[in-house]
Amino acid sequence: MSSRGEVAVVGAGLVGCLTACYLARRGYRVTLYERRSDPRQATPERGRSINLALSERGIDALRGIGLDEAVLKAALPMPGRMVHAPDGTLSFQPYSAGGQRAINSISRSELNRTLLEAALAMPGVRALFEHRLTGLDVDSGRMDFDTPAGPVTHSAPVVLGADGAYSAVRGRLQLLPGFDFSQDYLDYGYKELTIPARDGGFALDPGALHIWPRGKAMMIALPNPDRSFTCTLFWPKSGPGSFEELDTAERFEEFFAANYADARALMPDLAGDYAHNPIGHLVTVRAHPWQVRGTGAVVGLLGDAAHAIVPFYGQGANCGFEDCVELDRCLQETGDDFPEALARYGARRKEHADTIAELALANFVEMRDKVASRTFLLGKRVEHG
Ligand code: FAD
Repeated sequence: MSSRGEVAVVGAGLVGCLTACYLARRGYRVTLYERRSDPRQATPERGRSINLALSERGIDALRGIGLDEAVLKAALPMPGRMVHAPDGTLSFQPYSAGGQRAINSISRSELNRTLLEAALAMPGVRALFEHRLTGLDVDSGRMDFDTPAGPVTHSAPVVLGADGAYSAVRGRLQLLPGFDFSQDYLDYGYKELTIPARDGGFALDPGALHIWPRGKAMMIALPNPDRSFTCTLFWPKSGPGSFEELDTAERFEEFFAANYADARALMPDLAGDYAHNPIGHLVTVRAHPWQVRGTGAVVGLLGDAAHAIVPFYGQGANCGFEDCVELDRCLQETGDDFPEALARYGARRKEHADTIAELALANFVEMRDKVASRTFLLGKRVEHG
């Protein structure tokens, strides 16, 4: 396909890389600008490993570009959730009748690497790492970056912000009149813990997303191909049983052992995880519109930059991947009229993003509270073999 012109994608995360793949297939020349160093050479930050539940929405977007098989090779299917009661009783709840359908546990950094490699293998795509966007002129598409060699400037007629929940591109659009923006933090934080492999095998059933519902708080665990589990504690930031109250290793461990006894027994390095893994924040971001047309450039937003949501429906990345498909569809429909395609894409996607944001918030209550009452009502007991 002939070259159609230059697109700057700010952020080489999950959505930026998939966007680059879709655009390159249409014949665009794409530059990914990423503030971090090349993830193919770096080790992921401790406590920020995050494994994602990849579901059909995301897989379909990967299928659209022929990447589903490569990605799913590194994923573990989870056909249901395993609920851990305080006394250690286990109850398996399949996600679908018959249990044939599954969500898939995958490491975010692995997925990012796969998508980045796929993007860079396509003609016309390049990535500039250690380029942190610091300024953007919407009219000219001029972008200012901080780099290890000092400030540099680039420009492009199309600038796409795929730079995550705290997007610098969106930050620039927020200064324009008529741009709506809100961000709402939950009074909860999250911390990663690890259940390592035991005797070379999984310490828990790898065919499930594990949940420890505890009323106002919860923990989840997703399996990894190395037979470990990445656990994420979702606890209140303040008040009883909060990160603030349990602020020493001793208090934390005592409370954890009392409330998550079966998991505690599988965590030899709980103290290390507590000390070294940061407490993350949970934010919902709403923005409108997702595109702004300047006199000589157009700027758009995709993924978390447009619609960051809390993780309880496991749909943030899946939803961002759907953005890429919709933008591609709109480019096709408009004969690659980028401003028109971005306007159409934003109009179509916004209500879906708002809906999933609400569902994700509601599902926190479901996961931390209701799955437990349902389990106990059903009175099912499943032993893990
Ligand atoms: P990001 O992944 O945040 O990528 C943004 C990129 O932009 C990064 O590489 C960043 O370094 C770069 N960047 C930022 N600022 C700049 C700048 N100024 N200049 C240049 N580059 C910049 N989603 C799911 O679908 N399923 C799940 O199960 C799931 N679980 C989650 C669990 C947790 C605990 C969390 C926090 C999130 C979870 N998510 C899940 C959400 C998912 O991680 C995000 O929706 C997804 O990563 C968004 O992708 P993105 O590319 O839009 O943004």
